[in-house]
Amino acid sequence: ENFALAKSWIQTCIQQHDACRSGSEPEFLPTRLIHVGDPAQGKPPRLVLTAHFPFPEQTHYLALSHCWGTDSGKTVTKTMTSTLPAQLQRIDAESLPKTFLDAMEVVRRLGHRYLWIDSLCIIQDDKKDFEVECSSMHLVYSQALCTIVAADSPDGDGGCFVPRNPLMAKPYRLPNEPDEAQVTIYPNFGPWVLGIQRGPVFRRGWCLQEREMSPRVLHYTRDRLMWECRECTAAEDKPELAAKKQTNESLAAHLSSARLLDDKDLHAVSKLASRVQLKSHKWDRLAEAYSRRRLSVVTDKLPAISGMARVLAERQPDEYLAGIWKGNLFKGLSWFPHKSRDHPALVPAGSWPPGPVDAGIPSWSWAAYDGPITFV
Ligand SMILES: [Zn+2]
Repeated sequence: ENFALAKSWIQTCIQQHDACRSGSEPEFLPTRLIHVGDPAQGKPPRLVLTAHFPFPEQTHYLALSHCWGTDSGKTVTKTMTSTLPAQLQRIDAESLPKTFLDAMEVVRRLGHRYLWIDSLCIIQDDKKDFEVECSSMHLVYSQALCTIVAADSPDGDGGCFVPRNPLMAKPYRLPNEPDEAQVTIYPNFGPWVLGIQRGPVFRRGWCLQEREMSPRVLHYTRDRLMWECRECTAAEDKPELAAKKQTNESLAAHLSSARLLDDKDLHAVSKLASRVQLKSHKWDRLAEAYSRRRLSVVTDKLPAISGMARVLAERQPDEYLAGIWKGNLFKGLSWFPHKSRDHPALVPAGSWPPGPVDAGIPSWSWAAYDGPITFV
């Protein structure tokens, strides 16, 4: 599954890309990590506590971005207060969904040991633990060596390695060459961004922040493996790292596709507009893109982007009010529900403003509306 290629992308990025290294806090480690073990040697995966790791700055881990599958009524393996002691000893591989097992395989084959998965590394029935871990979620992804995205799996059963259509990528033996000379022929997949937009992960609320914060991402899509870091993109069919096409213009053109928080981009266009304006513009696009995604838990609406808000507030101090920046208050309040094919009925009569079920979000915030929005 292209592990050598993924390894070479990671290596080149670490050695050559300054922007992909910036903002790293080597001392940070998530509270818990999964030691992926080695089933072939009879060593099962297990949870480990990182508090006593002697060299945190030398510990590398990968993180998983995935769909829980709540929409399809399924659920993923979780860590509960009652199961934690046993999981610190071993995690029963048979209890794990394919997506988790595939991600562990990626970690092993890339030569690493540790993986972070939300449902296993956060104690799911401990409210305090959720709050503490949620507040450092952006760090979990920004400090990960690389994020593995199970792009085409609607739930835990889909996996990272999705069975492919054999007609899509065809090995071809070159005529008049020695027997072993073989190339793989791929169809024209079109622009890079289209490749990552199709899968269900692209529609999940939490996954927006997970991708935005990660310095490096391996997208395991239905058709091919795709790479993204802050500076470059690549894919299995076009393995050379190519500089990211991201100007302010293309940002507007690919509203929901480009990464919006890239450092490089922020620096590059800072001459054109004031940083405050730029941040507002980016945040508006981000909120619009985010409002098109789905969350299984309605109270997650603001928490699932709070890490990005925190990072922006550090760069550009401003007061953050339920999804809106005080420095951009007028624009921030000027939003309207967006009519789209996915949401044909806009606001049913009598249901606006939303009632108190709306997770305590004030009705003037775009985040209170459960559906796509657009700023004026
Ligand atoms: Zn890079």
